[in-house]
Amino acid sequence: MLKTAERNRKMFVDGKWIDALDGKTYERRTPYDGELVGVYPDADVADVDLAIGVARRAFDYQKGWRYTSAGDRAAVLKRASELMLENIDTLRSTLIEEVGQPKQEGRVTWSAETLDYYSYLIRDRRDDAVTEQRFDALGIIAREPVGVVGALTAWNSPLSIAHKACAALAAGCTLVVKPAHYTAGAIIQFAEIMQEAGLPDGVLNVVTSQRENGAVVGQAISASHDVDMLTFTGSTFTARKIMATAAGSIKRLNLELGGKSPHVVCADVKDMRAAASAAARGVMGLTGQSCQAGTRLLLQESIKDEFLALLMEEFAAVRLGDPFDPATTAGPLVSEEQLGRVSAYVETGKSEAKLILGGGRPEGSQFDRGFFFEPTIFDDVSPSARIAQEEIFGPVLSILTFTDIDDAIRIANDTIYGLAAAVWTNDINDALRFAKRIRAGIVWVNGYRDTSVLKGMPMGGYKGSGIGREHGREGLDAFLETKSIMINLAQG
Ligand code: NAD
Repeated sequence: MLKTAERNRKMFVDGKWIDALDGKTYERRTPYDGELVGVYPDADVADVDLAIGVARRAFDYQKGWRYTSAGDRAAVLKRASELMLENIDTLRSTLIEEVGQPKQEGRVTWSAETLDYYSYLIRDRRDDAVTEQRFDALGIIAREPVGVVGALTAWNSPLSIAHKACAALAAGCTLVVKPAHYTAGAIIQFAEIMQEAGLPDGVLNVVTSQRENGAVVGQAISASHDVDMLTFTGSTFTARKIMATAAGSIKRLNLELGGKSPHVVCADVKDMRAAASAAARGVMGLTGQSCQAGTRLLLQESIKDEFLALLMEEFAAVRLGDPFDPATTAGPLVSEEQLGRVSAYVETGKSEAKLILGGGRPEGSQFDRGFFFEPTIFDDVSPSARIAQEEIFGPVLSILTFTDIDDAIRIANDTIYGLAAAVWTNDINDALRFAKRIRAGIVWVNGYRDTSVLKGMPMGGYKGSGIGREHGREGLDAFLETKSIMINLAQG
């Protein structure tokens, strides 16, 4: 049992479990019944300065993490992966309590697999040599850790910190992590696992804070000259502020941002039931609070009525409720603020399109204490409508139609986002035409998200959905600097 499973939680700085310097705390309550999840230190700028100083020294120190062998770093990651699986029940419970969503064990196994993957990748990484250009000269293109990394995370998938951290740690970087304030518990537990796995003190530091929705501490990390790189998961809106703040210290940015992903179904789809099921899961996963949610469903005109009938059956099978109940398939929204945001978008939608499902709070006393919202579908949505253009981050699906694959590609590309996209078709030419022309970082053919667990596939967005990639070799490269070493052999 992890020590951090208790309700009074501490921050993790320099290998110690500490309170905020001014002793302030905040509470997190579940979004489904309002019970206490945990009490957390509410850090201010002084706390984050302390953590950054620790991470800086842990990086610069002559015997620090970056001077360890790849094998030693791999061993820590491998052990952490095993410990995550040994503690899957605790991590799963914390995720369910904080995020409010059912079936979180897959998130834990995915993180454990990613740690394991990077433990192999770092052992296998090689630098390049230039040997043939001149007989009396040798070039080495070496890659080195970028330095101190500030990691700012979103609340919908807290354990994605493992994906950032394992690549940064594999590279030899040190970290200061600021979790989203709703979901700090699983990240604190991740820190305990890393400590138990043998990570040296000061290499990974976690600072929890709710001041101004985490912006006070987040801005301090973004602005710091002692932080060499930011890896941020969050909204495109916040990313703009972070880029502006980070400009003062010229740091590297890896940004995993929002989306408005198109899910396209062509008339020649082989299995319409499978596509309808994927369309429902594509938007209802995490109750629509997923960056990759397929919130724009594009149907070829000739199959629209038939497809909608199947889709309605799939949505009828959605079970909102207590996320610990095995029968539940969708939980509440994460907070009252998020409930207000989704409700406002749905009101906008009612004036822009035709509401054909949901559109409000569900009825029943079991929903009274939580931030539940009905699965909601709008039909006849214009590509330019706000509900077709803006990320709502809730269980709201917009239905649009198209004439042929080129029309679908044009509509699909017509947003500021470019995170993910999917096409269902039995025509290989249409599938490849779509895959090559869509401006998005992830494309599925005849599926939605079910293939995202393929090992080593990089993930990230085009356009307003981000900069850089996580996962795969690209995820490791994100945390590496490149150095050209030129050796004059004639002087030897
Ligand atoms: P958010 O942008 O509100 O917050 C993200 C993080 O930034 C939090 O830790 C927050 O405390 C911090 N923050 C807030 N204001 C800040 C500021 N001014 N300076 C520095 N830090 C600040 O996002 P959210 O509501 O927590 O998460 C939802 C968003 O995350 C959605 O847009 C979703 O699409 C996106 N997301 C993207 C991915 C991806 O991989 N592309 C994954 C998950 C979530």
